[in-house]
Amino acid sequence: MAMRGGMIRHLSQTHDRPQQSVIAVYGRMLKFIMQQRRHLFLALATVIGTSGLSLVVPYMSKLVIDRAIPEQNGTLVLFIGVTIVATSALLGTLNFFSSYLMSIVGQNVIYDFRQRLYRQLQSLSMSFYDNRRTGELMSRVTNDVNSIQQLITSGVMEIFTDSLTFLAVSFLLFSLDWQLTLVLLAVFPLMAYTTRRFGNRIRSAYRDVQESLANVNDHLQETIAGIRVVKTFANESYEMDRFSKRNRQTKEAQINAVRLWSVFFPILDVISQLGTVVIICFGAYRVMQGHLTTGALVAFLAYLQLLTRPVRRFGRVMNVVQQAAASAERVFEILDSKPEIEDKPDAVDLPEVQGNIQFQEVSFAYNGDGDVLHNFDLKIKPGMTVALVGPSGAGKTTVANLLLRFYDPQSGRVTVDGFDLRDVTLQSLRQQMGVVSQEVVLIHGTVRDNIAYGRPECTEEEIIAAARAANAHEFICQLPQGYDTPIGERGARLSGGQRQRLAIARALLKDPRILILDEATSQLDSESEHLIQGALAHLLKGRTSLVIAHRLSTIEDADLIVVMDQGRMLESGTHDQLLALGGRYAVLHSHQFGAGDTSTKAVAQ
Ligand code: ADP
Repeated sequence: MAMRGGMIRHLSQTHDRPQQSVIAVYGRMLKFIMQQRRHLFLALATVIGTSGLSLVVPYMSKLVIDRAIPEQNGTLVLFIGVTIVATSALLGTLNFFSSYLMSIVGQNVIYDFRQRLYRQLQSLSMSFYDNRRTGELMSRVTNDVNSIQQLITSGVMEIFTDSLTFLAVSFLLFSLDWQLTLVLLAVFPLMAYTTRRFGNRIRSAYRDVQESLANVNDHLQETIAGIRVVKTFANESYEMDRFSKRNRQTKEAQINAVRLWSVFFPILDVISQLGTVVIICFGAYRVMQGHLTTGALVAFLAYLQLLTRPVRRFGRVMNVVQQAAASAERVFEILDSKPEIEDKPDAVDLPEVQGNIQFQEVSFAYNGDGDVLHNFDLKIKPGMTVALVGPSGAGKTTVANLLLRFYDPQSGRVTVDGFDLRDVTLQSLRQQMGVVSQEVVLIHGTVRDNIAYGRPECTEEEIIAAARAANAHEFICQLPQGYDTPIGERGARLSGGQRQRLAIARALLKDPRILILDEATSQLDSESEHLIQGALAHLLKGRTSLVIAHRLSTIEDADLIVVMDQGRMLESGTHDQLLALGGRYAVLHSHQFGAGDTSTKAVAQ
């Protein structure tokens, strides 16, 4: 029942744009990366090595022109040749280590991100999921985390290498000719300005990309999981249209981001070429004046290549950085969400439940909307079976949601054996609760895994006993691999009745003290109906149970029947008492049975 409304909730909501400051986002990303210090420092050491070594080759050309050639020194030329080969080999080796180490850092960081995200998604409350779309959330754990990984494996490395090379080359150029270097460096503020102007726009464009990608993901998730509904309504072409729209939005967002980047990159290129012009013109002048040797000018030009490479690459790295920052914002938004329902610091474990349940003047609204329950009172004694009936939307499922503490009431309290649910640990509460809902959720695994879901440590005998009591053993034995038969996510190969019986076996095995039963509304053949009623009788025995009843025929034996409408209790009593009362229940009963339909008609729908 927690899944209600989840499947085809049409998606118009987009989340508020996160308001985190850019610096804060970078700071937090850095914190995550710094957790991998050891590998990072090793990688940094290799980067220092490569930056240093990359200065060697241009210097060799200066040596050839200024010394070896004028001195006619063949040995020096040979030495220079060997040095260049050795330097290249060493550079290659260091490059291997740096990219390998950075991949390790990147993989460790995204492992950590995914772990945290998943833990957080597990701990967030139902109210968080009420407002979110599944596929969109999934996209944050996959697409967004991947784009952060790209930053770490390629971006961070390049930023390190490039900044270091930039500093080293500038230092060398200063020592060769500080005046020429000063003129050259005057070009860089212009680059910084352009980068800043484009940076924000590129980042915002990538946020659009990630959001539209999430929309595509969400659409896929909804329509693949809900393919039955799509087909039942023959809505294939409608869904195709909606998908096309989202797919197109993603394409356009990507093109927009690439367009910005493609404009930015050549502009940066032109600016960096200004540097070459400066060196050729001003440098030639300095050589003519005798302040600079020809070899030094050649070295200058070669170093300029080393200097502009980082600057040109900077454009590409910026792209990765901005993309990652946009993704990181989306990831941090989830990590920062607070679970609404969590254990109080002084929460106690709920002792073994006897089954005294009380709702005391409970008023409740989802998300601060209008009240769904108004001053609702209900008292259940241990071992009772209590049925909730009433039109759809009356608040029956909400009562169950509050008992499971999926939400806390705004006023009033819900207690079990005198313990306010807000004072006990969620684990100890939910461990003693069982839910059998009309929408049976089967996990990806074997029949055995599915029955044992609530108690994975149980024995084979216990599983079989539960299956027998749920009237499921026979059909399981007829499956191709018996208890080892795998079932798909939605248990596609099992009939509705068989799925129900598996769910009952699962609940029997868990042996909860309190049982919540959301009765099936769908019509089952009378054979299945009979088997399920038998299984339910086993399940209800000796437990305190809350039954959300959709049909009156199945609840006549309940110890208490509560008739609800619009979040209020209209009347309550046993079947006979309520009939004698001649109120709403009696009317519903006469409608349902008067119409001669004793099995399928949902209450007052
Ligand atoms: P019932 O089980 O009797 O059909 P529910 O308890 O499911 O009724 O719903 C009671 C009211 O609360 C309905 O108006 C429904 O629209 C609303 N509601 C149910 N679940 C949610 C939710 N997760 N978020 C917002 N409103 C909800």
